[in-house]
This record gives sequence, C-alpha cells and structure tokens, in this order.
Amino acid sequence: MARAHNFFAGPAVLPLSVLEETRDAIMDFAGNGVSIMEISHRDKAFDKVVAEAQADTLAIMGLSADEYSVIFLGGGASLQFAMVPLNFLHKKADYVNTGAWASKAIKEAKLIGEVAEVASSKATNFNQLPKNIKYSGDADYVHITTNNTIFGTQWKSDPDVGNVPLIADMSSDMLSMKRDFKKYNLIYAGAQKNLGPAGVAIVIIKKAWMEAKAKQSISTILQYKTHVDAGSMYNTPPCVSVFVVGKTLKWIIKEGGLEAVQARNQKKAKIIYDIFDAYPEFYKGSVVNKEDRSLMNVTWNLPTPELEEKFIAEAKAKKMLGLKGHRSVGGMRASIYNACPMESVELLAKHMEEFYKANK
Ligand SMILES: *Cc1c(COP(=O)(O)O)cnc(C)c1O
Repeated sequence: MARAHNFFAGPAVLPLSVLEETRDAIMDFAGNGVSIMEISHRDKAFDKVVAEAQADTLAIMGLSADEYSVIFLGGGASLQFAMVPLNFLHKKADYVNTGAWASKAIKEAKLIGEVAEVASSKATNFNQLPKNIKYSGDADYVHITTNNTIFGTQWKSDPDVGNVPLIADMSSDMLSMKRDFKKYNLIYAGAQKNLGPAGVAIVIIKKAWMEAKAKQSISTILQYKTHVDAGSMYNTPPCVSVFVVGKTLKWIIKEGGLEAVQARNQKKAKIIYDIFDAYPEFYKGSVVNKEDRSLMNVTWNLPTPELEEKFIAEAKAKKMLGLKGHRSVGGMRASIYNACPMESVELLAKHMEEFYKANK
C-alpha cells in the first residue's frame, strides 16, 4: 500500500505497525473470534488492554502507580478544559496564555472561578513563549500548554511553580520528549496528535492530591475520582481508540522510549529549521525565539500567499499532505509527530530546497 507523507496536525500520522495490528484486531481481537469493536468492555481480554495501557504509560513517563492514576476519557482535550476547573478551581487558578487552545482552557475556567492570566503572548499573536513568568503563589493550580499546535511554540523545560499544583495540556507533544513529569499533578492529552485516533483523551493524575482537593459536588461523570475509582471503566470507554493508544505505547517502548523518540524528533525538526535559517527571507518561520521552536508543529510563511498556495499544490503532487497552516493563522505548518517518518521530513526538506531555487 502506498502511504502518503502525512503532515496533518490532528488526527495525524500513526505508526504503520499500529495500523496493521488494529486492522487485524478489527477482524479478530486476540483470537477471540470477535472484533475489538464487538467485545464487551467488561471482558477480561479488554481489561488487559486497559491495564497494560495504564502500566505502559506510567513506565514510559517514569511515574509510579502508587502515586499516579491513568484514565482514558471521551470528550477530547476540550472536555478537560472544563473538567480541570470543575474539579480543582475553588477560588483562583493561574493560566499561561500561549495560544488558541490555552485561550479556550481559560474561557472554561472563567465560567467556574477566578482566573489569573499570569502571562500571555497574545499581543504578538503567540509567536513566542512568555518569559520570567510571575505566578500568583496562592492559586489552586497553574495551567500551561506545553506545545502550541497552531502557533508552533513549545515549552522545552518544565516550569517551577513552587508548591502550587501544576497542570498541563500536553495534547500535541505527549510522550514526544523527556520531561520532569513528577512536577505535574495532572497531565492531559487528546490522543489524536501523538498517540492514537480521535475519541479519547488520556489523563494522568496525582491520586493523593485528587483525594484531597477534587470537588465532589459536581456531576458524577465529570469527577476524576469517579473514573479513577472505577479503573477507567465507569462507563463504556472508547474501546477501539484505547486499543490503538495501547499499541502506540508499545511502539514507543519498542523504539527505545522517550530518549530515543526525542532524539529522532530533534533530528527531524532540525532538518526543517535549518532551511529556515539558511533562507530566512523566503522561509519565514513564525516563531521569533529559536529556543521556543516546537519539535512537533513547524510553522512558517512564504513571501506571498500565491507562493504558499503553489508550494502546497506542488507538495501535494509529491504525496505530501496536510501542510496548510491552521485556518485561523494561514501560512504553512508541518506537523512532524512521533510517527512521522524521517523519510517524510527529508522529502519535505528536498521540496523546500527545490522550491526555493525555482521561486526565489
Ligand atoms: C488539538 C488540541 C486540543 C483539542 O483537542 P480535542 O480532542 O479536539 O478536544 C487541545 N489542546 C491542544 C494543545 C491541542 O493540540
């Protein structure tokens, strides 16, 4: 089968081996004579899928099951924008506004309580990450977005926020690099960027903090505790999506874990950013500080919209898909998630070189 070179921002490229394993399980799940779509989520065989996905997640992140729980929820990352403040915003929360998704998280939190927008790069259309952030110090939590999918910035290190619980939306760089995951009380990610198909979000939560601080006056299904106590099986989970995430986690382990995945991601990103640096008048990277450049979503403009259209059309003819920037910002974007092969990035770089020579 001829695979296209997939640069879509999400849903996005998955490892071919994961697609093949899923294809097989769609017809016959683990030799049970039923599809993964047809088996009860209460069956032992499916229990195993969830339990292994939970254990693999913690193993990859270097977290202990005594301290952290892993749950799989429907509703995408967007439901987490609401669940986080519903559960944990008692009085005031700090939010760092680094893009469109962070802004949506802020909007939801404001419906529940007081939000201190402690830093924002909105004034420069999110072309950088805020520096020297002063956190409130007495907030219920601090919320950050580690990778800004639309604007192409990424936190390369994990902030120090003192004793205040740290929460992160890691949707678009989940398990793409090593992080100090122990610094976080809650991490969430929609699966469809780096881990699997749409339909499921993964949540990693510090149990003791949840027990101590989560509100129990909200709807049962919106309480993290409900899902943690039920082993992520309070209601029927998005079974197929969880299955695919489980296979992707095993793929990450087989690839050598986060260290190996990160090294490859750095190499891939460098190939494209080196071209920006070689032809800065032509490939105008949209992120102003090099240290903020995302390893996952590379964003840029060409000198004119006509050239951008031409670049995308010619790339498409070479089977490179998904290079158009987000509809809110225009320009171009290459999403080069974990499963994007080196060959796809090399082909894109070749296209960029040729296109520059023909159109400069
Ligand atoms: C895609 C994305 C979201 C939204 O995810 P849904 O699953 O569509 O709700 C939230 N945050 C970030 C950083 C994203 O990239």
